[in-house]
Amino acid sequence: MRQLRGQILTPAGWIHGDIQFDDRIRAIKERAASVDGPRIIPGFIDLHVHGGAGRDVMQGGDAARSVAAFHARFGTTALLATTMTDSPSRVEAALTGIAAAMAAHQPGSARVLGAHLEGPFISSTRLGAQPPGVLPATLQKVQRFAAIAPIRVLTLAPEVADHLDLIPELVAQGIRVQVGHSSASYETTLAALQQGASGFTHLFNGMTGMSHRDPGVAAAAMAHGEYAELIPDLEHVHPGTIRQALRAIPKLYFITDATAAAGMPDGDYTLGTQAVVKCQGCVRLKDGSSLAGSSLTMDQALRNLLTLGMDLADVSARLSRYPAEYLGIAHERGQLRAGSLADLVVLDEHAQVTDVYLEGVRCPAPAVLAGTLP
Ligand SMILES: [Zn+2]
Repeated sequence: MRQLRGQILTPAGWIHGDIQFDDRIRAIKERAASVDGPRIIPGFIDLHVHGGAGRDVMQGGDAARSVAAFHARFGTTALLATTMTDSPSRVEAALTGIAAAMAAHQPGSARVLGAHLEGPFISSTRLGAQPPGVLPATLQKVQRFAAIAPIRVLTLAPEVADHLDLIPELVAQGIRVQVGHSSASYETTLAALQQGASGFTHLFNGMTGMSHRDPGVAAAAMAHGEYAELIPDLEHVHPGTIRQALRAIPKLYFITDATAAAGMPDGDYTLGTQAVVKCQGCVRLKDGSSLAGSSLTMDQALRNLLTLGMDLADVSARLSRYPAEYLGIAHERGQLRAGSLADLVVLDEHAQVTDVYLEGVRCPAPAVLAGTLP
């Protein structure tokens, strides 16, 4: 049994005391309020990750495994490996790698909870950094993918023919359907929510917007959404617009949309079949036409959100608790309470990660690896 002392974020608020755990949290014991020490918060749950440390989930093989090991160092204790638009056989190869990472979990690595299928069932008019090659979705195609690895989240453009009718069938398979990479109108988006869609993919990016006479997907999300994911690198979405979304969407949660360029120096990388360039923290398509995912890690996401004046407990909920609730795993992840898996992040006074525990196993923190990572 391990024990850490500090200021522990629990569902009831901050407790000054000790947290005792093996693979699960066994007890949280309050001590005198004078106990100081580090902040201990739940491990981050990132529901949209393409890559990191030079590897991309679409490479298949052991790529998903490497990506999960990389992001663990920055406090991500569970994630959804996210695929790009590509030919069905290449998506299947990526899913095979995701299934392998799930089957052979390495201690001290982020738990791969399944796949987020970002393409190919999106709109050719809102590709963003996705390559051409979109396909209309059918239950049969999705089931073929799901037979390889569990599809937990699927990004869908609801305005594509037959997609609205398909949503209830996807939801019945246990898939969270998110509106994204979409030119849908407000009305079509509302119809998608009524059919069972429950989220929005990188809110504001790759979708129709907020025009007051012609509202689109983002406006429908603000008017009706309970959950939505957003990239808080402060490049994809202006801080003022993040504040607006925080007022409107109760369980807005944050993702990295990280690519292979995360944790790597400036230079050339791939995102699926797309050539991308990392320059000064941003990742763009090689022709410069579009942002192409990010080089964000969840610890940097946390510090970015603190610069907006957000409270640490609120930031933590949006990096851990709400994504766990959205995925239906809040009974064992996303909050620090007795019985939950011991997924912990330890922060110093500058909100830098000093230690990460994944199901009780300590993982080397970025500070330890400072010599090897830029
Ligand atoms: Zn993405």
